[in-house]
Amino acid sequence: MSSYDVAVIGSGPGGYVAAIRCAQLGMKTAIIEKYDTLGGTCLNVGCIPSKALLDSSHHYEDAIKHFDEHGIELGDVKFSLEKMIARKQGVVDMTTKGIDFLMDKNKIDVYHGVGSFKDATHIDIAVAKEKAQTIEAAKTIIATGSKPSTLPFITLDKERIITSTEALKLPEVPKHMIVIGGGVIGLELGQVYKRLGAEVTVVEYMDRIIPTMDKAQSKELMKVFKKQKVKFALSHGVTAVARKGDEVIVKATNKKGEEVEFKGDYCLVSVGRRAYTDGLNLKAVGIPTDNRGRVEVNEHLQTNVSNIYAIGDVIKGAMLAHKAEEEGVFVAETMAGQKPHIDYNLIPGVVYTWPEVASVGKTEEQLIEAGVAYKAGSFPVRALGRSRASGDIDGFVKILADKATDEVLGVHMVGARAADLIAEGVTAMEFRASAEDIARMSHPHPTYTEAVKEAALAATGDRALHV
Ligand code: FAD
Ligand code: NAD
Repeated sequence: MSSYDVAVIGSGPGGYVAAIRCAQLGMKTAIIEKYDTLGGTCLNVGCIPSKALLDSSHHYEDAIKHFDEHGIELGDVKFSLEKMIARKQGVVDMTTKGIDFLMDKNKIDVYHGVGSFKDATHIDIAVAKEKAQTIEAAKTIIATGSKPSTLPFITLDKERIITSTEALKLPEVPKHMIVIGGGVIGLELGQVYKRLGAEVTVVEYMDRIIPTMDKAQSKELMKVFKKQKVKFALSHGVTAVARKGDEVIVKATNKKGEEVEFKGDYCLVSVGRRAYTDGLNLKAVGIPTDNRGRVEVNEHLQTNVSNIYAIGDVIKGAMLAHKAEEEGVFVAETMAGQKPHIDYNLIPGVVYTWPEVASVGKTEEQLIEAGVAYKAGSFPVRALGRSRASGDIDGFVKILADKATDEVLGVHMVGARAADLIAEGVTAMEFRASAEDIARMSHPHPTYTEAVKEAALAATGDRALHV
């Protein structure tokens, strides 16, 4: 039987990063993945393919709507969904093969099969109906991720009533896609199909889209989406979803308690994701899960069985690839006797629509609720020379700073390349910068980053220079 210092179950961004860091720290490491390709949700059916389709559909939209403004005449522009999806798959294949290379380079043994606990130091690896092989591991990291959630009354037929996984490989552009849930997946994939010509209606339970982000971001993104003719039914709780032939019928109850009906040809169910522990046989080791099915861990991300740890989507916290990665490194270093630290307040959140939405730190609503005295400075992206040059004039940057100390408490933005710009907010907050610090830093001109400087100037006392 092969024996390891560490076995990692699950090869998503949490698992494969944990395995690399364990190997770097000199541990003999194995990784177990039930699918044929490594990379987990993120690389196979999440971050990477969704961004590939967002980019392709964005190019198409630019070609039909915006090239003309730049003096580029294209004539009759066509697209092939089939080619777009094939390209997306090519990007996924290239990226997952990159993980094979990294495993090889770091001398990590890769096992394909479902990993399940036999006891606290032995894991069975099963492939279909073949007899399971067993490996021994002194320590194990559970990194089994998450799966799409649904609502109790919905039957996902995966043809017309679908999750994000099917939405990444549809055979046609929907005529009318009804999106249940105005969160990250609903808006990113809704925008893909809107750009390609679908009518899109977002049915959201809360009174605003992206409800966990700063209210100003919800408002700005909603304004842009409405300009793009996406329809919204906010404060609507979905109560039934049915399919009749090629038609899907979604019923919801509005704020007044009235029943409202939406008819379309596809329904994307994007109401969140749930931790995935099926097949792990947690019972054999006595590891508990919480009321949302997540593996319970302490502050060292250690389960109640001291040699078994858990990271990523399968435990509490934001379901984000970079959060899972940080936790992978954290656990490997903890196992090696180091004292790593993760500041969960500084895990940024991004929505890759266009304009992009990005945040780090506390929202204005959270500061109000916590009774923190703060000051806010906002700067509209349209006032930037860079934005006017590119034509990306929607959005703003908002900086929230402590009223007394000027320490930056939150950075929230909507705009072109906000996904990349937010890294400045993370860096500033990691070093506990004040708004004045950002305001005094030279930012290259003309760039979108100038909006960050201007928002900091606004936060330090109405000193923005270009509004
Ligand atoms: P996962 O990536 O889910 O990996 C878990 C792996 O474990 C899977 O490969 C699974 O097959 C395997 N596994 C499970 N059980 C077993 C078992 N018993 N034995 C062996 N293997 C097992 N996050 C971002 O930060 N940015 C984005 O842009 C982004 N976009 C997304 C878009 C979509 C459409 C979706 C669905 C998600 C997106 N996410 C994004 C979220 C991101 O994908 C997850 O947060 C991330 O993948 C979590 O990583 P993980 O390692 O915890 O788990
Ligand atoms: P989400 O939590 O972002 O959004 C779900 C939305 O569905 C919420 O707005 C919620 O109010 C709404 N909802 C819930 N029940 C409803 C009902 N009955 N009727 C109407 N609306 C209802 O979840 P998601 O968009 O499914 O994404 C899942 C996870 O994947 C997220 O946690 C996210 O972090 C991750 N993800 C991240 C990215 C990214 O980082 N860009 C992209 C995609 C997914």
